[in-house]
Amino acid sequence: MKITRISVYQIDLPLEHPYWLSGGRLKFEVLDATLVKIETDAGITGWGEGTPWGHTYVPAHGPGIRAGIETMAPFIMGLDPRRVLDVERAMDLALPGHLYAKSPIDMACWDVAGQAANLPIADLMGGGSRTPRAIASSVGAKTIEETRDVIERYRQRGYVAHSVKIGGDVERDIARIRDVEDIRRSGEIVLYDVNRGWTRQQALRVMSATEDLNVMFEQPCETLDDIAALSGKHSAPISVDESLVTLQDAARIARDGLAEVFGIKLNRVGGLTKAARMRDIALAHGIDIFVMATGGSVLADTEALHLAATIPDANCHAVWACQDMLTVDIAGGRGPRNIDGHLHLPESPGLGVHPDENALGDLVAVYL
Ligand code: MG
Repeated sequence: MKITRISVYQIDLPLEHPYWLSGGRLKFEVLDATLVKIETDAGITGWGEGTPWGHTYVPAHGPGIRAGIETMAPFIMGLDPRRVLDVERAMDLALPGHLYAKSPIDMACWDVAGQAANLPIADLMGGGSRTPRAIASSVGAKTIEETRDVIERYRQRGYVAHSVKIGGDVERDIARIRDVEDIRRSGEIVLYDVNRGWTRQQALRVMSATEDLNVMFEQPCETLDDIAALSGKHSAPISVDESLVTLQDAARIARDGLAEVFGIKLNRVGGLTKAARMRDIALAHGIDIFVMATGGSVLADTEALHLAATIPDANCHAVWACQDMLTVDIAGGRGPRNIDGHLHLPESPGLGVHPDENALGDLVAVYL
């Protein structure tokens, strides 16, 4: 089987509500999505998506995905998309780094491979759990009252996991954490996500002031060096997110004991092929995993769900899905959707959901 044609679409995905991160430092209103269709000489078509969370969040850029695909397309044309490692190596040779530009190609290749094998991607990767995965809500940086309201709104849609965004003002963060812990229900999963918003000193102040609560913090400071500098000075479990980009990062975090949880965002780490190695490093070191689309449509959420299904139930905390935050739906309600706060693995071969091509935006490039 050979890749014969790559089509690239761009569409803006507006957020239902403006979204603030990192103590109000970063504001987001629209996501720039790139959808990639890979056609083959076997008549099988695969779809991939790359949707960074804006261009201020991490080093990832919507137009950069399209430019990256233009550079890589001649190197992957004619390859067998079922041989995902060959495609990965060709992309890495053509364009070192730029992992976020590679993830939609990787995803489309896995989609083709799954359809060719007549298996859902998770099963093709070695076996997918059918236990529904809890979706984590995303509670943007807000006041105490707004935080309560947003959590309640998600609870009404069945959500039992919440990622509460903090970071910035130390006293306000402490007050919001204490308030959320007050209203937290038994069985609810709450992660306090700082998104790099604290200095080392701010991190230690909040962590010591909330030590009695034993809550988990995600990405408290900017770098792994910062997180390493905090270790031994607090007892809170740590999840790493933005600092987990390469396999080398994963190895360092595991070896040096910098975190108890990996937050794996598929677009950031370069797709399923590379993320699966991080999963294995995590599991080999007693580290749990939280799997996320970086943002985007139900396609990106479904990709995250397939990886989550390959993690043992006990080690997979939740998935983050973006679809409930958007005002447009490129797949007409198809694919895994929120059912009582959970996503269910699709049984159809490949990814399990394709977009309505006429619901997509502009066809921006075709490579033959
Ligand atoms: Mg995070």
